[in-house]
Amino acid sequence: MGRPKDLRIWEHYRTLPNKSVSCKLCNKVYKFSNAAKMLQHLITCPKSPETLKDSMKLIKDSSSKTKMSGLSEIETNDSFISPSSSANTTINAEFQDTDDHIKTELARAIFVTGTPLSMVQHPLWIQFFEKLQPKFKIPSRKALATKYLDKIYREMRFELNEELNACSYLHLQCDGWSNLRNEGIINFLISKPQPAYVKSLNTESNPHTSEYLSQEVEKVMKVYGANKFLVLIILHINDMLQISNIHCYADDSTGDTLYTGHAKISRAHTDECRNRLVSEIETSLHQVSIWGEQNLVQFNPKKTQVCAFTAKKTPFVVSPHFQGTSLDKVESRNSGR
Ligand SMILES: [Zn+2]
Repeated sequence: MGRPKDLRIWEHYRTLPNKSVSCKLCNKVYKFSNAAKMLQHLITCPKSPETLKDSMKLIKDSSSKTKMSGLSEIETNDSFISPSSSANTTINAEFQDTDDHIKTELARAIFVTGTPLSMVQHPLWIQFFEKLQPKFKIPSRKALATKYLDKIYREMRFELNEELNACSYLHLQCDGWSNLRNEGIINFLISKPQPAYVKSLNTESNPHTSEYLSQEVEKVMKVYGANKFLVLIILHINDMLQISNIHCYADDSTGDTLYTGHAKISRAHTDECRNRLVSEIETSLHQVSIWGEQNLVQFNPKKTQVCAFTAKKTPFVVSPHFQGTSLDKVESRNSGR
């Protein structure tokens, strides 16, 4: 038993003539081969990629489980008990053996269906599980959020890595988003061709420059085999399109312009100011078009929207043109001053 697992550890070690072994990744030498130590080293080895660490943690998880069930068998065999209670003990041992398995399956169902973790604290669920099997102790919310979440995360990652490793060609996609706390993140997906979500990167204070992005893209590619990605397409114009009032985030760009004036300026004066705003925006959009022509980037005027913010009651009716198309207006906002 356990041979294939051992082989999965051994393939990362070289055997040396004096019976010692060395890690193929960092060259650390062990005088004697000890599977447990060699396994632990692959989990902590500074040169070990995350995917290998994950698979080694899974081997560790499963081997500690077999050891534990092995122990309980010895205990039941050693104790001298009457036939009837011996039958009971067998059932107990069997239940304990699957108990962790049941908890894992419950946790998996909770995570995958997006059920709130607080469910395990609800008296009705607790009662339900008690009636179903009095010996079963529903896992605590903390155990779900730590032990079981980690375990299932590792399992799922491992399965995903195995699938991605088996593919000859992969396709990487990434896009800039903001998370619930409004922090900048970049999500990475790999398609084979079915898309799989592989990484979310909190970009913190790093500017989304092409240099930073290429470095992060490279990191992901290296994990899954850089030579499996044949074509690189990047839709990212942050630090390329530099026009003073155009702001870019990943592949989105926003332009703005404004005017301020007295509340009591005449209607004619307001119209004049508004027309000037529109022509300023049109000038910026024209610069964007020129930049696009020079850099082989096409902008879609049909997907370009304009929104006016005004404190005036009279609606903002003039709309800028971009590449000959009158832009779609999102309802003009009264900034309510
Ligand atoms: Zn090592």
